[in-house]
Amino acid sequence: KAKAADRSSVHFFDPQMQVVASLRAAMRQDLYEALRNNQFQLYYQKQVDQHEQLIGVEALLRWAHPTKGFISPAQFIPLAEETGLIVPIGEWVLREACETLAQWASDPAKANLTMAVNISVVQFNKKDIVHTVLKALNASGAKPHNLKLEITESLLASDVENVKAKMLELQRHGVTFSIDDFGTGYSSLLYLKQLPIHQLKIDQSFVSDIIDSPNDQAIAQAVITLATAMHLSVIAEGVETEAQRAMLQGLGCDAYQGYLFGKPCALQDLFMGTQERRS
Ligand code: C2E
Ligand code: MG
Ligand code: MG
Ligand code: MG
Repeated sequence: KAKAADRSSVHFFDPQMQVVASLRAAMRQDLYEALRNNQFQLYYQKQVDQHEQLIGVEALLRWAHPTKGFISPAQFIPLAEETGLIVPIGEWVLREACETLAQWASDPAKANLTMAVNISVVQFNKKDIVHTVLKALNASGAKPHNLKLEITESLLASDVENVKAKMLELQRHGVTFSIDDFGTGYSSLLYLKQLPIHQLKIDQSFVSDIIDSPNDQAIAQAVITLATAMHLSVIAEGVETEAQRAMLQGLGCDAYQGYLFGKPCALQDLFMGTQERRS
């Protein structure tokens, strides 16, 4: 009886929900095609130190959709995670990023740059993630110590022992870890202490209003103090103005990333204009 009632209730679905569902189904199909047809591309965004010297980049995924144009990862990563497609997509990102790193290795001006790669929780929780990362490094010839994996606090809320074992294994090879969007998620200082983390990344949401918001200043200060006490480096993301950079520097921030130093761009545009900014 209950079953019959459930089945008939299908007819009363909100039509708007059906639209959303079919849009998602279409996008899911598109994501498969994207992977098969090489529609993904990596953009790179600069990371600089206190002296505004380039220290590395973050690889950011872009989807060049054949009809819809560029689609932001914020729009398709959640669906890619739900469908598991993030796994092959993430493997592609790792391979591509490592190939770029390997390319830089022969140029003394670029050989020390780090490459930060975003790793989704779903991807990191796969059994063979360590192998996947090492395979990308080996296949390209990139140096593990140039590779930095950006993970989020949500990963630390899952199976911590398992996460820790994988992180330690990757660290043993030289790979480093940065906690992305720090302060926005579940955070346990106990886990932070136990895990081989090298950097905290202050989330953009604390940076954008930092000039006018004493609360954001306090949060940024707390993250920087925490990082310093734990001998971790700290980078601020989403730095758009000199005033924001100066304030973060005053609070003791190590490194910066944001439109002030360059928007994410294609590899061939990455080093253009570097001289001008420096002089
Ligand atoms: P995220 O890792 O926190 O990356 C920072 C985001 O802030 C990027 O958005 C970047 O373009 C943007 N951004 C950088 N500087 C500024 C600034 O000064 N102002 C403003 N308003 N925004 C700035 P994007 O590229 O759209 O990526 C969004 C998110 O998608 C990323 O956030 C990351 O969580 C995810 N993502 C990107 N690429 C990958 C990937 O290869 N794999 C996975 N799993 N996730 C990715
Ligand atoms: Mg990131
Ligand atoms: Mg971030
Ligand atoms: Mg963010």
